[in-house]
Order: sequence, then C-alpha cells, then structure tokens
Amino acid sequence: MKSVDEHLAGILAAIHPIAPIELGLLEAEGGVLAEDVTASHPLPSFDNSAMDGYAVRSADLAAAGAGHPVTLPVVGEVVAGDTGAYAVTAGTAVRIMTGAQLPAGADAVIPVERTDGGLAKVEIREAAAPGHAIRRTGEDLRAGDQVLGKGTLVGPVQLGLLAAAGRSAVLVRPRPRVAVLSTGNELAEPGTPVTPGRIWESNSFMLAAAARQAGSIAYRHGAVRDDPRELLEAIEGQLMRADVLVTSGGVSMGGEHDVVKDTLSRLGSVQFAKVAMQPGMPQGFGVVGDDRTPIFTLPGNPVSAYVSFQLFVRPALRALRGMDPERLRTVHAMLTGPLRSPAGKRSFARARLERAVVTPLRGQGSHRLASLAAANALIIVPEDVTELAQGDEAEVMCLP
Ligand code: AMP
Ligand code: MG
Repeated sequence: MKSVDEHLAGILAAIHPIAPIELGLLEAEGGVLAEDVTASHPLPSFDNSAMDGYAVRSADLAAAGAGHPVTLPVVGEVVAGDTGAYAVTAGTAVRIMTGAQLPAGADAVIPVERTDGGLAKVEIREAAAPGHAIRRTGEDLRAGDQVLGKGTLVGPVQLGLLAAAGRSAVLVRPRPRVAVLSTGNELAEPGTPVTPGRIWESNSFMLAAAARQAGSIAYRHGAVRDDPRELLEAIEGQLMRADVLVTSGGVSMGGEHDVVKDTLSRLGSVQFAKVAMQPGMPQGFGVVGDDRTPIFTLPGNPVSAYVSFQLFVRPALRALRGMDPERLRTVHAMLTGPLRSPAGKRSFARARLERAVVTPLRGQGSHRLASLAAANALIIVPEDVTELAQGDEAEVMCLP
C-alpha cells in the first residue's frame, strides 16, 4: 500500500500550473495574477475633496471660532466630475462636493456641518488646518507603484483596485475547469423515482461544489453507466472543456464491475493504487487525452470521495493555479471520547471541533453522508496508532 503522502506527492509531481491568459476583470475573479501590475497614474489622480463643504484658504479662517464665525462670499460650485478650472482667491470660498477637484488656490475644505450651508455667502464657525478634508494626489498609490504583485489571488477587493487603477483586463492563471462525473448502474438523478436497488446520485453534486469552493469552475456530468464505452465517451466529451477530470466509483477491486479501474488501467497513463487510509483506500490518478489532462478517479462511497477530494484534489487544484498546494489547516485538540483506527492506515474520522476540544461523531461508515454533514473536522489518526482514549490530544483537520 502507498501512504497518503506518497500518493499526494505523485499527484503534485504531475501537475503543472495552467498557462496565464489575459482576462477581463470579472472573468479574472478567482484567478492568480501572472503579472506585476503597476500604477500608470497616481491614485487619486488629482487633489479632491473628502467631504461636501467649502474649499477655502485656511489662513482666511484663522480667526474663526465658536461665537465669532468668519463669513466668506461663495464664488462658485464644483461637483464630482467637473473638469473645469476653478480658483479660490483670498477671502472667498467655493462650494465643493465629495470627489470634486480642489480649486486652485484652496488648501482646505470646511465640511458643510461646520457652516451655515449658505449659497451666496457662507458663515464658517471653525478654523481648519491646511490640508483639511483634502485627498491628495497619489496618497493611495503613486504613479509607478506596484498595485498588485504576481501571485496575488484576485478577489473582489483586488478587482476593485485594478479597476480603480484603470485596468480593464489582467494576465492571470484562470480558475481551473473541473469536470465531475459519477459512475454506477445504480445511480438515479435526484428528483426521479428510485426503486430498491437504485440510489440517488450525490457525489457529483458534492464534488462539483467542493471544486467550486476550492476556487475552480466546475461542471457536473450526470451519472455514467458501468459500461467502458459510455465511460470513455463521457471522458472524451469532458476533455474538450476541462483542465481536470474527477470521477467517482468503479475503482475498488477491478474486474468487469469496476469499470473505471478496468477501463482506464488499459490506457496505461492512469495508475490505480491502494492508499493506506480510511476512508478512501482505492485511488487512481493519471493523465488522459492529447493535453495530458489530469484525472482523479475517486472511490464511490460518498464520504471516501469527499475525504479524497480534500486530501488529493484540492491541493492539486491549488497547484494548477500556481499556488502553494498547502493542505487544509490542522489543529491539536483534546478528544472527548475514545476512537479506534485500523493498524497501518491513516484514518480520518468525522468529528465536531469546538475550540480545542473535539468529539468523534457516531456513524463512521463511509456511506454515511449525514455524519459528514454534521462534521466540521476530521480527526487524523496516524498509521501506527490503533486507539485513542478520551483526553488524548489528536491532530484535527478543519473542513472548509
Ligand atoms: P463503487 O466505488 O462504484 O463500488 O461504489 C461504492 C459505493 O458508493 C456503492 O455503494 C455505490 O452505490 C456508492 N456510490 C458510487 N457512486 C456514487 C454516487 N455518485 N453517488 C452516491 N453514491 C455512490
Ligand atoms: Mg460502482
């Protein structure tokens, strides 16, 4: 048997980051910047007002205070978007709105709250220091400054900043496109009737959603029957649009009933192995098609499929994006009850983690999705440990 770490190392060795492409801003969301973006202009690109109020020369208000306001004639009004030339000469004020260009000669803005709000003339009740309520050119970024560096994950705020800096497109490694397909003659589409012997298909929904949660674009292919031709056709079809394929089911023992293993083994480019873990022992990984697209063949039991996804597929998806393939965060916590684990396997037991205390959940069978849904963590029991007692400290992997 292969260890979990060996299996993951083999996968990561075969994964190459997706080539960068130029994408429009919204399409770039979730991508990883493949260029250093520098500011072509300062941000802000002109001195402007931070408040609604009056642009003034601060020296004119030196005498202003409670009970002895200073009155200035209002010689104009400038609003956001005005591109005309305005000026404040000694002893005058210009009404100004937030974001409007600061008139020449002004060195402060008096917020409207400190005045009587006058239109022809304004009574100002408080003095202000030079620079008050002014947003200076380049105070966020100067021209030539780095806006965002290569390797930055483009999230909502990064998109906002890129747009604010005038960029309409950027070079990114895009989100990987993941095609998820399930196999099994027993699988019926949810919403359609099932008779005893058949079950509603669940893995593809769960895995596609997990792939999205891990920053991918995921497509779901409905269930494929346990038929080699149907399987190969489905894979062929998905290769057109996917950077990664994820299948579930059909990898247990081989032979004619485990069609994924049986069929893909013949290609020679997909390897099947027993990985020393529970759940999720049967695993396959390799590449298919002309583009050598990575394919993960996960076991069919839903919990096995999900745990395998988090252990193997998620780091690979990160590597495809050019990111550190870091694993899910682990913490140490005290067990509230005992736990058994098979010798020689690393086990991942569904659990509830509450601060530094962790409770193993009942129902660890790898078909039991309800206990997975109740879990927020997996207790990791090392290969050489077969029993943990209440009060023992365990390593716990936090589920996303
Ligand atoms: P297999 O790995 O194909 O032998 O499947 C192992 C178990 O997982 C069987 O009980 C299957 O019915 C179940 N299973 C396989 N694929 C799915 C799926 N997509 N959704 C729900 N259960 C599945
Ligand atoms: Mg099957």
